[in-house]
Amino acid sequence: MDPHLSTVGLSKSYRKGRDPVPVLDGVDLEVDRGELLAIVGASGSGKSTLLHLIGLLDAADSGRIFLDGRRIDDLTGRKRDALRNGTFGLIFQFYHLLPELSALENVLLPLAIRLGPLSYLSQRRSIRREAESLLDRVGLSHRRTHTPGELSGGEMQRVAIARALAAGPSVVLADEPTGNLDANTGREVLDLLRDLNRERRLTMILVTHDLAIAAKADRVVRLAEGRLEEWSPVFA
Ligand code: ADP
Ligand code: MG
Repeated sequence: MDPHLSTVGLSKSYRKGRDPVPVLDGVDLEVDRGELLAIVGASGSGKSTLLHLIGLLDAADSGRIFLDGRRIDDLTGRKRDALRNGTFGLIFQFYHLLPELSALENVLLPLAIRLGPLSYLSQRRSIRREAESLLDRVGLSHRRTHTPGELSGGEMQRVAIARALAAGPSVVLADEPTGNLDANTGREVLDLLRDLNRERRLTMILVTHDLAIAAKADRVVRLAEGRLEEWSPVFA
């Protein structure tokens, strides 16, 4: 059986003046459906770059990305947008919520964008119910009408998690999801992600230098010198 998600020989350099600065140098990765994979690595090792490539937010210089055995990195236009807005759910360290919108509206917005105005308007009751039940699931039903400025860091990240799940993704990509939270709050957010991973059989890739995350993952790989290597907490 094909892995749910895989990359072969993914490479990426940035340019500093005239000189290319290599960041990824042949990343091979296989993730099974429902697996929770942690990617660890020093700051600047290219973790965010790799996550952006997988989520089709940026293009690699070379290499391929496959979803269920089908190549996806070379898709363009609508097919690419559908993967970005539907199949992949993204979570960031600094939440990236829109400050003027309520928690509920932040969860609804990507759905509205994905569906387009006409479908959204005709389905808005059921979509709203779905968004409310997601906020409920992340423990925030009492904060629906609050704006991000009225929420704690942990609450903002919960809203961001609900938003990431709103379009029903099969792959969740999280970039340092606990990086801006204190240890206790980070642990709660991590437990929530772990539970959602199991409940919904979501494939999750969590990029982190938080070893508590690594300890809860099914598997840990380390990014170093542009490549991935298997990593065991025993060697930490
Ligand atoms: P990590 O997430 O592991 O900290 P990043 O993927 O953010 O690492 O960055 C990897 C390297 O690429 C760093 O040296 C960083 O400075 C560089 N880099 C990241 N984005 C850019 C960019 N847009 N332009 C130039 N260099 C970049
Ligand atoms: Mg990063």
